[in-house]
Amino acid sequence: MISATELAKFPSLEWEDAAPRMSSQCRAAVEAVLASQNGNVLSREQCLILANTEGDDLLGLLLAADMLRRELVGNIVTYVVNRNINFTNVCFVGCKFCAFSRGPRESDAYFLDLEQVAEKAKEAWQIGAREVCIQGGLPHGLPPFYYRDILRAVKHAVPGMHIHAFSPMEIVYGVELTGMDLTDYLRMLRESGLDTLPGTAAEILDDQVRHVLSRNKLSAARWEEVIRTAHRCGIRSTSTLMYGHMETPEHWVNQLLLLRGIQEDTGGFTEFVPLGFVHQNTLLFQQGLARSGPTLAEHLKIHALARIVLAGAIHNIQVSWVKLNRSLSQLCLRSGANDYGGTLMEENISREAGATAGQYTSPEDFQALICEVGRIPAERNTTYSRIKIKAPAANFGQEFSETEFTFA
Ligand code: SF4
Repeated sequence: MISATELAKFPSLEWEDAAPRMSSQCRAAVEAVLASQNGNVLSREQCLILANTEGDDLLGLLLAADMLRRELVGNIVTYVVNRNINFTNVCFVGCKFCAFSRGPRESDAYFLDLEQVAEKAKEAWQIGAREVCIQGGLPHGLPPFYYRDILRAVKHAVPGMHIHAFSPMEIVYGVELTGMDLTDYLRMLRESGLDTLPGTAAEILDDQVRHVLSRNKLSAARWEEVIRTAHRCGIRSTSTLMYGHMETPEHWVNQLLLLRGIQEDTGGFTEFVPLGFVHQNTLLFQQGLARSGPTLAEHLKIHALARIVLAGAIHNIQVSWVKLNRSLSQLCLRSGANDYGGTLMEENISREAGATAGQYTSPEDFQALICEVGRIPAERNTTYSRIKIKAPAANFGQEFSETEFTFA
């Protein structure tokens, strides 16, 4: 086992020092990916070996992921200026890892009407946000076309706003409420203003684990069906995995390979986001069904493993800063990640579960965090097709200059 102090010092190690200390199996696997810059050279067995690394092998994995990140996406670290809008916390699903949801009669239950949602989007636009991320609980008796109507209300109020909205679970609920076919429903949402879909509600895409996390959640196969259908309809999405609860490294590998396979077929994922389980206020932890969130080694390893296994398929690995403290989020940036996610403005879900990273990270905070690790901050749009570089890292502390790039 490697101590947390040693682990926190890994960025000062050189590959030339770390590589000879690795086992031959691990070293051969990561060197094959470094040479080809593609995770598809790994067998499932090799992925499992990498997912179970400890000690010197883990240090080598982290360094290799960082080198691969530099080769594949360079030294820029992106973020998006966005606002989270959780339009209701009323939910009947009852996920045991969730501390956000409320019953309809609880004193702090809330439900935002269409005007309130549109108003929040308008406020966000006025202070520089170009994306709203809209998700909520699933309340009984939701008006059947409420998701569509949210999109129309937001686009009417702020036509230029990118709407990143509705988890696959919400999509399935919308299909149930309206009685529509999944493809028709997604097309209707796209025509009403849906730009991209959060790849949340994935947690661990294994029905045995899902059954413990939440009996009422959509199955792994249904999650995949919603995502593939959305991609086919021209709606891109993120991809996620929740780690640090009751899952094993084998679940990580299975999920990364599944996501890789979907991406090879559709090309619809914009990024992969590992989501650390925040345990404090959850039933899952209180009932003894989960460990107390990820260890430092797990936080770093999942970002590194994702970079290596997804190389050549999904280019952007995001650090979910709401679940991590400042220095840990920076260590994840040094373990293969290249994106900080959104400013959020109003994060609720992780905070209710016990996270203390705050509800908002300003663009200036992101720029400082990124410059502190010697990288270059850039604001991006949701699909990474446009980035605005803020300044060479060495110039931090001075006036920022901006250079904008648009990609096809
Ligand atoms: S995670 Fe979402 S679906 Fe599950 S209980 Fe919480 S709000 Fe409801």
